[in-house]
Amino acid sequence: MSDKYDVIVIGGGPGGYVAAIRAAQLGYKTACIEKRINKQGKPALGGTCLNVGCIPSKALLDSSWKYHEAEGAFADHGIKVGKLDIDVKAMQERKDKVVLQLTGGVASLFQANKVTWLQGSGQLKANKQVVFTPNEGDEQTLEADNVILAAGSVPVEIPPAEVDQKIIVDSTGALEFDAVPKKLGVIGAGIIGLELGSVWSRLGSEVTVLEAVDTFLPAVDKQISKEAQKLFTKQGLDIKLGARVTASKKNKNSVRVTYTDKDGEHEETFDRLIVAVGRRPYTEGLLSQDAGVTLDERNFIYVDNQCRTDVPGVYAIGDLVRGPALAHKAIEEGVMVAEVIAGEHTQVNYDAVPGVIYTHPEVAWVGKTEEEVKESGEPYKIGAVPFAANGRALAAGEPAGLVKFVVDEKTDRVLGMHVLGPQASELIQQGVVAMEFGASIEDLQLMVFGHPSLSETVHEAALAADYKAIHVAQRRRKK
Ligand code: FAD
Ligand code: NAD
Repeated sequence: MSDKYDVIVIGGGPGGYVAAIRAAQLGYKTACIEKRINKQGKPALGGTCLNVGCIPSKALLDSSWKYHEAEGAFADHGIKVGKLDIDVKAMQERKDKVVLQLTGGVASLFQANKVTWLQGSGQLKANKQVVFTPNEGDEQTLEADNVILAAGSVPVEIPPAEVDQKIIVDSTGALEFDAVPKKLGVIGAGIIGLELGSVWSRLGSEVTVLEAVDTFLPAVDKQISKEAQKLFTKQGLDIKLGARVTASKKNKNSVRVTYTDKDGEHEETFDRLIVAVGRRPYTEGLLSQDAGVTLDERNFIYVDNQCRTDVPGVYAIGDLVRGPALAHKAIEEGVMVAEVIAGEHTQVNYDAVPGVIYTHPEVAWVGKTEEEVKESGEPYKIGAVPFAANGRALAAGEPAGLVKFVVDEKTDRVLGMHVLGPQASELIQQGVVAMEFGASIEDLQLMVFGHPSLSETVHEAALAADYKAIHVAQRRRKK
């Protein structure tokens, strides 16, 4: 086989593998370079998301939620369980099986689409040359008409809490505990801190979350984040805001953490400590001196709206570039870039990328928060309705949370949708569809929703924007 490709993708995560498959579908001779070796010691596709991110974390979230329900909520339904126990090894084995099934699935898709998987590292040089260093074997120089950089991101490290993946772990280590830590510390009340903190809290850990900023989930609509903070605290997460970790000292099986907050300096000892303070683009080894692409001030690869770098024919996608570090954003950029290469008219609607936190209840949003719209000075209206007014939510024993719409008062257009509640990750897609189609809130009001369903709360929230909700008492608008 010649060493010239139409498309070379560096990185086989959700951005890279999807870009490679779409490029191959479009008829291009495509290779994807991926260096990852999984915990079984085998080369693996799927990137952070499938191997050590979205999928294993959701597997543990689902397992731990089932345990939590068996421990408490089942009794409300009249279901009696005997003495409850958790087999962490079995739970981890199940998670690993799910991961292997999905990463193996990507390898099969590569075969089916005739994408060449080159197992090793790739480095971009000038003139769209790529140096490929196989996991085993000698370096080769490959050429391509188009190169897509999709090397993803890695956890941010902080000097006061150096990760050893035993006592002090990052998200990858936090997915691998072989026992439930009695006392678990988490640095960072962001998405990973809340999701993985919840997993171990449900299984019995006493969890303390130390968050440097003094606002809880500052990017989330305030009404939702306030409610979420109350619920998570009630579930047992001890969330300390404005708490900055300054030092840590490890002992054989624990770590003493020093942090400061408005009341001064404190010390706390944990059996395990998770550091979850964000992720950064992974550019180490990716670019040779003469590669020519520009990095921005935060080290993201600089790209335009269609993910073109400053070098013609070189693209960058996913966690390597600006925007939220989310798998679905990486995926859509992968598709877009392959289609841009093919000369198709295509785009990613960055205004309608949903965000989800897979706690219980889940938090999900799309578009603008009420605070953002208020700040713009444009007139707006709000429709917000609690799940406590929804028959299906009550039947399922899930009354906590609400659905909220933020609507442009002048045009009636949906500007944002925010959900805290059961299956928020699924319900939010209704807001995504509405925003993608430029729907007015009236469009949603006029739709028929199946009864009984959680989606009826979406309907009621839409109605509430014009004081027309039926199942909640609303103050009447003066004529
Ligand atoms: P990655 O998935 O990071 O893939 C990049 C790949 O490139 C890696 O496999 C790496 O080995 C490879 N690579 C890097 N450099 C080279 C090189 N020079 N040569 C060859 N290969 C290279 N997002 C969601 O949307 N939903 C979630 O529920 C979610 N949960 C998450 C949970 C956790 C614990 C974590 C850590 C992340 C989670 N994310 C989630 C974020 C999501 O994983 C990332 O946004 C997504 O994986 C980014 O995709 P990517 O293709 O840009 O990069
Ligand atoms: P994050 O940005 O969501 O949260 C990091 C938190 O750590 C922030 O609240 C920040 O203020 C805090 N922080 C930063 N430095 C600190 C310090 N020194 N001490 C205490 N707190 C500090 O980052 P994350 O939770 O690490 O997740 C990384 C990214 O991965 C997310 O932003 C998201 O894009 C992605 N992710 C997505 C999902 C999902 O979609 N469900 C799940 C997990 C991860």
